[in-house]
Amino acid sequence: MALTLEQLNAASPAEAVALLDGLYEHSPWIAGQALAQRPFTSLAHIKHAMVQVLAQAGEQAQLDLIRAHPELAGKAMQTNTLTAESTNEQNKAGLTQCTPEELAHIQNLNRQYGERFGFPFILAVRGPRGLGLPKAEILATFERRLRNHPDFERAEALRNIHRIAEIRLNDKFGYVPTLGNDVWDWQEKLAQHTDPGYAELGQLTVTYLTDAHRACAQRISHWMREIGFDEVEIDAVGNVVGRYHPAVAGAQYLLTGSHYDTVRNGGKYDGRLGIFVPMACVRELHRQSKRLPFGIEVVAFAEEEGQRYKATFLGSGALTGDFNPDWLDQQDADGITMRAAMQHAGLCIDDIPKLQRNPAHYLGFIEVHIEQGPVLNELDLPLGVVTAINASVRYQCSITGMASHAGTTPMNRRRDAAVGVAELALFMETRAAQDGDSVATIGMLQVPNGSINVVPGQCHFSLDIRAPSNAQRDALRDDILARLAEICERRGLQYRTEQTMQESAAPSAPEWQQRWEAAVQALGVPVFHLPSGAGHDAMKLHKILPQAMLFVRGLNSGISHNPLESSTNDDMQLAVDAFGHVLQQLAA
Ligand SMILES: [Zn+2]
Repeated sequence: MALTLEQLNAASPAEAVALLDGLYEHSPWIAGQALAQRPFTSLAHIKHAMVQVLAQAGEQAQLDLIRAHPELAGKAMQTNTLTAESTNEQNKAGLTQCTPEELAHIQNLNRQYGERFGFPFILAVRGPRGLGLPKAEILATFERRLRNHPDFERAEALRNIHRIAEIRLNDKFGYVPTLGNDVWDWQEKLAQHTDPGYAELGQLTVTYLTDAHRACAQRISHWMREIGFDEVEIDAVGNVVGRYHPAVAGAQYLLTGSHYDTVRNGGKYDGRLGIFVPMACVRELHRQSKRLPFGIEVVAFAEEEGQRYKATFLGSGALTGDFNPDWLDQQDADGITMRAAMQHAGLCIDDIPKLQRNPAHYLGFIEVHIEQGPVLNELDLPLGVVTAINASVRYQCSITGMASHAGTTPMNRRRDAAVGVAELALFMETRAAQDGDSVATIGMLQVPNGSINVVPGQCHFSLDIRAPSNAQRDALRDDILARLAEICERRGLQYRTEQTMQESAAPSAPEWQQRWEAAVQALGVPVFHLPSGAGHDAMKLHKILPQAMLFVRGLNSGISHNPLESSTNDDMQLAVDAFGHVLQQLAA
């Protein structure tokens, strides 16, 4: 019999502990203490309460919990002394059917891991979709995590323990994140299309208007039709646009969506999550034959990443009237112009200006996106409400000093360009940290024609400065450039800076941000705010519509633009639920 929230909330403390038995390996105290937060409003609420208990329990209790776990395919499995839950999990991952060679390999890894960290390797082997990870992926993860810093690895072990508990809790309640699974599966299917050269390597790359890109557009439009959108079209720049009509013709539409192109060797969720989450919601409306007082327009943007051509945000830019016709002459690496690629794809270039949206026809724009950063993952929070897409500015710079012999030039007679940059980098680190939410990076740093025995006479470097408001960015930039001048003056160096890019901040519209907040709160998880350090399609739509974004936790430190990018079916389900809640609020 599946457990219900009502039962759990009504049970005596002792009964309740018994009902939640087995979530955390040999550690019933975690669920026990979390019960103080009853009544629970959702499973997500219970999960978060347990996460908090462990976070506050201190390092020793956390280590004890980690050490209460069996080794992967270890002695406990071979002597049949695993808990029932662990047996089930190791079974699903195929670990109970290892060849002797595989077992020997895993045991070798277990030994190395134990020596390095002093606790057993813990992996939620049921995986992010809950179905069990393939053995090869388990081994690859094991090998990768052996190289982690011990502090990080301890936290990663705890995150995996929480994921294990999440799945066990779902099982107890007979709960299946059905819509999260569907969103996951759509992304998995879409990821089958990848550009030549990458397909062979098993990598995901979908750049503007390649065969794989056009196949993605076909798939998305097919699914949109299948699940009940009233109108579906591929527009003049390759965006897939699905419209679900309002109850009354002529009403405004909610605009939403994200991009389906990827970076080279990218992840499966960047952009695509923000297409499939609203699609899942529209499918539910259609299933219930329900119409809202407003329409829903989901746009799968054709291009955001700027991989094949230099121009970026081609898809969302076309909706805001920012498609620059000069871009049509840009060439890809093979000399194919954007115009030729668009003609080859059968797109009506002349119609691009018609794609510009009239803001009067829309309520606003919302976008769901994987965080692409480590914050939510580190805080064990599934969702985050975005306060602003950061303002940014970039420079290419150089410092010129004097090249001289590394052996014969005394330290007080040097004009070392690289040390000047080093001093600037340290200043940037401290100064950006003072703001709390600003970031400043020297991502490129070169001593041209440098030599091991020569004091650097010149140094080329880049600056990337971002902050949640233009004023905060400008103040940070001014301080950095002033310090650069001061360093060069003091060290007898010369410098040159060239601004290569500047984007304004896109603060979330307060009433739309509040809708996401209300939605997250209704799910029983804490409302957490963060700025977006990366650019998104919402930044473009910001020019014509009020906008706000919702971030979904990424696994593996939130790595993105990388095949390790990942999330879970449970978090995707929460994103669908949050989106559905915003629809309800707008309809009310
Ligand atoms: Zn993206």
